[in-house]
Amino acid sequence: MLTARQQHCLNGIGINVWTERRTGSGKKPEAEAVAEILSTAEMEELRRFAQIPEPAHDLLLATISDDEHNTPIASVSPVVEVPVTLDSWDSIIAAIEGCNACELAQNCTRKVPGVGNRQADLLIIGEGPGHDEDIRGEPFVGRSGQLLDRMLAAIGFAREQVYITNIVKCRPPSNRDPKQLEAQQCRAFLEAQIAQVAPKVILSVGRVSAHNLLASNLPVGKLIQQMHKLPGTEIPLKVTYHPAYLLRNPSAKAIVWQDLKLLHQMLQ
Ligand code: URA
Repeated sequence: MLTARQQHCLNGIGINVWTERRTGSGKKPEAEAVAEILSTAEMEELRRFAQIPEPAHDLLLATISDDEHNTPIASVSPVVEVPVTLDSWDSIIAAIEGCNACELAQNCTRKVPGVGNRQADLLIIGEGPGHDEDIRGEPFVGRSGQLLDRMLAAIGFAREQVYITNIVKCRPPSNRDPKQLEAQQCRAFLEAQIAQVAPKVILSVGRVSAHNLLASNLPVGKLIQQMHKLPGTEIPLKVTYHPAYLLRNPSAKAIVWQDLKLLHQMLQ
């Protein structure tokens, strides 16, 4: 149940809490779902976002053309050839576990290949494992992961229903950004995972993920404004802010909420 204050705040950001009813489908009303990812204090902050428009259906069709992507990140072939055929989950996981191609692989505690439904409609791609993920061998299990789980729950997905992975499968030291070469070493694994999952939509979370997937260096704030396709494929790709960014900048949750609603529409 929402508190009166939460209801007031949701009204303030344009979410009508009075007209929605819980349906027989078990889906939560929008107001309740969004309240689960926003604290009361955050919702108060979001009142100034009351003008954020609903995701336009046109957005599903609009894509940023390749030449709009500023200075593209150079596409360089992986330095180390992956010696095996990555045509099954077993071969992908074995290749990741056995990889020793870069500094990250040599220094991590555990490899973090990915988790979830291997035939998921929704594939989520983050940047790389952090401290908690390195210990557990599973992506998005720390504070960011908990927020990601709540974001998914808000649109009716359990973590187990989606597939979650990262650009790099080993933790960069001190949580620095993965270097371009490190991302390229891992690229064959990621591409093989995308081919196996064959998702309906990819959600790219954060700058490192978006820049690598789209070979772009435009700011996330720009990339987030339109729907993309994973280059070389017809797979729709939505960029959104990384949960770690949302933990530092809660007001951006209003924008992410729009992205989540768009994904929800696309996956109906
Ligand atoms: N951030 C990421 O991008 N990936 C993880 O797995 C955890 C935190």
